[in-house]
This record gives sequence, structure tokens and C-alpha cells, in this order.
Amino acid sequence: MLKTWFEIPLWQRVITALILGVLTGWAWGPEAESIKWIGDFFIKSIKMLVVPLIFFSLVSGVAAIGDLRKLGAVGGRAMLLFVVTGQIAVWLGLALGTFVQPGAGVDTSAIQMGATPEPNPTTAVDMILSIVPESPVQVMADVAVLPLIVFSMLVGIGILMAKEEGEPVQKVFDSGAVIMQKVTMIVMELTPFGVFALMAWVAGTLGIDALIALSKLVALNYAGCLLIIFVMYSAMIKFLARLPVRDFFRGIIDAMAVSYSTASSNATLPVTLRCAERNLGVSNSVASFVISLGATINMNGTAMYLGLATLFGAQIFGVDLSLGQYFLISILATLGAVGAAGIPGAGLIMMALVFGAVGVPLETIAFVAGVDRIMDMMRTTTNVSGDAAVATTVAVMTGEIDTAEMISADDV
Ligand code: ASP
Repeated sequence: MLKTWFEIPLWQRVITALILGVLTGWAWGPEAESIKWIGDFFIKSIKMLVVPLIFFSLVSGVAAIGDLRKLGAVGGRAMLLFVVTGQIAVWLGLALGTFVQPGAGVDTSAIQMGATPEPNPTTAVDMILSIVPESPVQVMADVAVLPLIVFSMLVGIGILMAKEEGEPVQKVFDSGAVIMQKVTMIVMELTPFGVFALMAWVAGTLGIDALIALSKLVALNYAGCLLIIFVMYSAMIKFLARLPVRDFFRGIIDAMAVSYSTASSNATLPVTLRCAERNLGVSNSVASFVISLGATINMNGTAMYLGLATLFGAQIFGVDLSLGQYFLISILATLGAVGAAGIPGAGLIMMALVFGAVGVPLETIAFVAGVDRIMDMMRTTTNVSGDAAVATTVAVMTGEIDTAEMISADDV
């Protein structure tokens, strides 16, 4: 029996667990919370990998790129794709909010308000300062991903500059990166159990009243995210990367399932990396560089949602927005998505940044908080798929992909 279990490809076990989890949650109701600890155990196990995985694979990846000019080529292309797709995403959210008017006629009295999170004090200057790692050890202990990326990239660049003298240390990082990939494989085997428990918990505890009143917003959030994934990313893979779209999605299905159930780009990072390298054939150097960076700053689902939610808030509280304010929202939503940590609910906190600037009451946050998780799951899947799409496209542009590996990915 154990043998048969391991013979089923992991993604099939994960998808089955996801469906069974939802059914169990519906049948069981709020009591399903009693098995949430299994999901927490799973999330903790993958979180454990984040720091060593970023540190080893990013240093080894940057060093493997071989020269600084090529590093600039990869980084420049990735940033360009992050910015362009982010802007398209915010304007999509604004368009959906404007044309469908999800906030019109919503009766706020039907819903129990969640707690309003503390407005985020982050200013642009704070954000810039926070990427400098004052103490690399502290940064690792705090799992502060952005400064860790900066530090790891600098170490990788140092190895490149040290040439022959850097080689022994480069070997240590190469070997560390391989070891961490093996550890990831072990932890990945927990995925079906974790996904099952998390889905049962979400499906069992979601308040139906809130869901009905806010259903338009939830539906639009899903529609926007699905458009981003299946239209924008598909177009990117088809026209920029010139690869088969179906194989791309098939290759990242594990990462999509894990991001959907955990609602955390950071927690999914080890899985995204593994999918990109193993199933899509993206080189280790490009995957570790682009995906680690993307998991923190490339959040198109979050950007789209911030635009949409601002209009929703304006509609339920009767605030008129000018075209100038639309542009302000598009800039702030992009900044909010960059600044949002890859953890559950980060986008909800970032709403304060956008709302405050255009005069939408912060109570909107409390209003949508009850259904945020179900929307967060979809935004996170969008964010994570975007990281994989950009990594794949950049890998194709810079000749860092082994497409034979992707096309033969029959048994991922
Ligand atoms: N949970 C999302 C992520 O980790 C961020 C968000 O809340 O939008 O990607």
C-alpha cells in the first residue's frame, strides 16, 4: 500500500487532498478547526527551509551565473517583467471595480466586522532602509526575506569577484544547495496531509453570511486572479517564452496547490523553486535568483486586489474618486504589493497604505477581513504562478532553460 501511495505522482495526491479537504470541511463544519494543527505542522516544516534554502541556493545561483554582466541581464529583465505585469494587474483590479461596482448596494449591517489591523506605518524611506541587513544573523533569525536576499546576492557577487580564491567557498554553497533540495523533497511528502487539513479548516469555518454579502467582491477577486493567471501568464509563456502553456501549468501545479492552501508565498518558496528547476528545466541560478526575489516583491494578485478593494471601500462608503486618484491608487497598490510580506493576510494590512491616501475609510478593512482568507488563497496562487512565469521567461531569454526537461515532464 505504501508503495502504491508513492507511485502516484505528488501533484495528483495533492489535488485529491485539496478536494477531499474541502468536502470534509463542508461536512464537518467549524469543528474541522481541530485538525488545523496538521496544516500548521506542514507550514512550519516548509518555513524551516526558507532561510537555508534562500541562502545556499541564491549564493550558489548568483555565483553560477559566472559574470556580473550576465547577472545584470537576468535581474534587469526580471524587474521589467515584475513592473509591467504589476501595473497591468492593478489596472485590471481598477477596471473590474469600476465596471462591476461590487460595493454598490452592499448591506454592511449583515456582517460581523473583523478587527481592523493597525495601519501600517511603513513609509517609502522605511521600506528602503529595511532591505539593508544590519546583522545578517539577525535577518536569518527573523526570517526577514528581503534583506536576506540582498545579503545572499552580495556574497554571491563577492565570490564572483574573488575568482579562483572564491572557488572553495562556492563549492560549499553548491553542495549546501543540493542538500537543501533533498531536504525539500522529504518535506514535500507532507504536502497532501497539510493541504487536506488546511482546506478542511477553511471550508469548515468560513461564515456563510459574510460570504453571501461579500460574494461579489470574492467573485471578482477570483475572476481577476484567474484572468491574470490564465490570460496574462499564458500569453507571457506562449509569446515571450514560446513554450507550451499546458506543460508550464502542469509543471507548477504543486506550487499552485501549496500556495492556494497555505496563502503564503514565502512558505511556498521551496516548492516553487523545485517545480521551476525540476519540472520546467529552469537553471538553478535563474530560478533561485528570480523566484526568491519574486516571492517577496512580485505580487500581482495582491496588486490587483488592492486596486479592486479600494474601489469596493469607496463604493460602500460613498467616496467619489477622481482619475488622478486612480493613478495614485495604481502607484500605491504596486508599492503595497512590493512591501507586502509573503505571508497570509499581508495584503489586508497593506490596504491601510492605499486607503489612507485616497480617503477610503479604514473600516473597509474590518468589513472584508472575515472573507480575506479565501481571497488571499487565490491572490497567493497568482503571486506564486507569476514568479514561476517570470523565472521561466527570463530563463528562456537568457538561454538558462533546458526545455527537453519541461516537455518530457510527464510524471511530475
Ligand atoms: N498572502 C499573500 C502572499 O503570501 C500576500 C497577500 O496577503 O496578498 O503572497
